[in-house]
Amino acid sequence: MRKPIIAANWKMNKTVSEAAEFARELKDLAKDIFSVEIVVCPPFIALGAVGEVLRNTNIRMGAQNMHWEKSGAFTGEISPVMLRDLGCRFVIIGHSERRGYFQETNKDINKKMKSAFSFNLTPIMCVGEKLEERESKSTLKVVEKQIKEGLAEIGKEEIKSLVVAYEPIWAIGTGKTATPADASEVHAHIRSVLSSMHDSETAQQVRIQYGGSVTPESVGGLMKEEGIDGALVGGASLNVNSFLKIIQFNNSRV
Ligand code: PEP
Repeated sequence: MRKPIIAANWKMNKTVSEAAEFARELKDLAKDIFSVEIVVCPPFIALGAVGEVLRNTNIRMGAQNMHWEKSGAFTGEISPVMLRDLGCRFVIIGHSERRGYFQETNKDINKKMKSAFSFNLTPIMCVGEKLEERESKSTLKVVEKQIKEGLAEIGKEEIKSLVVAYEPIWAIGTGKTATPADASEVHAHIRSVLSSMHDSETAQQVRIQYGGSVTPESVGGLMKEEGIDGALVGGASLNVNSFLKIIQFNNSRV
């Protein structure tokens, strides 16, 4: 049984005090929710304050990016050791905004993935196609390449703890959501690629989230699909009540 995982990606939003205030509110509102793994990913500078608030709670913290080296002359970068020190258990890797605006390649992502596993951080690895790729029916091919190259030379014990976020780029921040059936098709393909790289038992343990304009209204339909194990949420995670409703998708399922 895969435990659903819902993660908030705040991107470059919220000051340290706003982030800590959100964490305090969420901690109280979500204190009885154990059926879903809840993760918040604040900007780097807020990790210290949010980590303090969320220590010993049912809410986990993740970073939005990291460098693959543990220390050294990499001005402006943040290492996996620093993230662990602040209480991060998760790290988003290969978000489409990093691939697109900061030219991150599958090779860079692979280095970060290996590093995250070796420092005991659970990576949330993002994959997804551009609009023109969906229109030319190359979605499955694009996602397969991202999975194979991003996860090259990583052993199956690590893979079992992996979280993949399938995020069609045309759906991120646009208000357009993939239909549950479309998302489900890609999720099934990701699982079959993982199975071909390792074995089906390993692939069955990987949690695959959907991301792209998820809202309290759309989450229930997505989570009904068998292969959708959670959501990576941007815009709708910035407001604590909206994020809470998304975490409570179970209750809104009829
Ligand atoms: C994201 O940041 O990963 C994301 C899916 O954003 P949004 O929910 O705003 O589309």
